[in-house]
Amino acid sequence: MQTIRIERTTAPKEKPGQDNPLVFGTIFTDHMFVMDYDEENGWHDPRVIPYQPLVLEPSCMVFHYGQEMFEGLKAYKADDGRILLFRPDKNIERANRSNRRLCIPEIPEDIFLEALKTVVKVDADWIPTRPGTALYIRPFVIATDPFLGVRPSHTYKFIIILSPVGAYYESGLDPVKIWIEDEYVRAVKGGIGEAKTGGNYVASLASQVKAHDEGYAQVLWLDGVHRKYIEEVGAMNIFFKINGTVVTPALNGSILPGVTRDSAIQLCKMWGIPVEERQISVDEVIKTAESGEMEECFGTGTAAVVSPVGELRFENEKMPISNNHIGELTQRIYDTITGIQLGRIEGPEGWSVEVK
Ligand SMILES: *Cc1c(COP(=O)(O)O)cnc(C)c1O
Repeated sequence: MQTIRIERTTAPKEKPGQDNPLVFGTIFTDHMFVMDYDEENGWHDPRVIPYQPLVLEPSCMVFHYGQEMFEGLKAYKADDGRILLFRPDKNIERANRSNRRLCIPEIPEDIFLEALKTVVKVDADWIPTRPGTALYIRPFVIATDPFLGVRPSHTYKFIIILSPVGAYYESGLDPVKIWIEDEYVRAVKGGIGEAKTGGNYVASLASQVKAHDEGYAQVLWLDGVHRKYIEEVGAMNIFFKINGTVVTPALNGSILPGVTRDSAIQLCKMWGIPVEERQISVDEVIKTAESGEMEECFGTGTAAVVSPVGELRFENEKMPISNNHIGELTQRIYDTITGIQLGRIEGPEGWSVEVK
């Protein structure tokens, strides 16, 4: 494996104080990881350098055709001072699945993991320790050929930046209100919905703006063909607990396969709670929400870990869930996953990876 060169900053920035709310994605650390790709050398020159602007030609392909992949995971400081990553192998595997779909060359898994560990270690002092905080890690690849034709780029940059982030909800796990979208769609099978790429997000903006204007925090997408089956929330997968059974949409080719989704499913199965990954229609959601059979509804994703849903809105109908309180299972999943992330609870084999 190529060794990662480290060039430390000579002008370290002031770190945010303990009472800084660390608004998600606004503060960046002193360093970043960069690695280049070209056809002759493959992925080469892995390095950690001071965090700095990129200099790119305006003709770079990423600006015009969106050939881009990103990932998101977190590093945590355990009570005993260890630095822990949560299931980074899942993010690396997914990054390369996205890369294949987007015609971006795959990144060797060993270099990817070493890059994550190295840059986090260099900026370890930036990992916040207040409850609910973490160091968010954003790996991404951009196409850099200066070319305005449509084809896969021949050159790329793989970059990792780091951002100390606060508790997603300062006031604990507040239930969110969710807008079920019936006009726009996010993705269809055969498209890029299961890849983690910027294009899926730009497709979602018009709907998000509309939902925000109506007072809703997030959008819940229906499938793009029938406009009938539940897919996922903006940047979270969705779960329902109906009559004691946990139901989540099956990965059907247009849903992003979340690491938190997989973790929640595995935990429920370990606890003996029945889990169904299947199609679930918006009609079933409305019917069970109104009858009270829907006991809980929550989203899962790296940023919030688990986010309880307190209200669903479809067309003109508003459906309160769990009396706008966090459900018992939602809380248990949150406590367990965050406990494992902080090294307080022993998780399944491989879920915690120490950065040494
Ligand atoms: C990243 C993402 C998720 C959540 O995935 P995690 O791995 O759990 O963070 C869900 N949906 C979309 C569209 C995403 O981009």
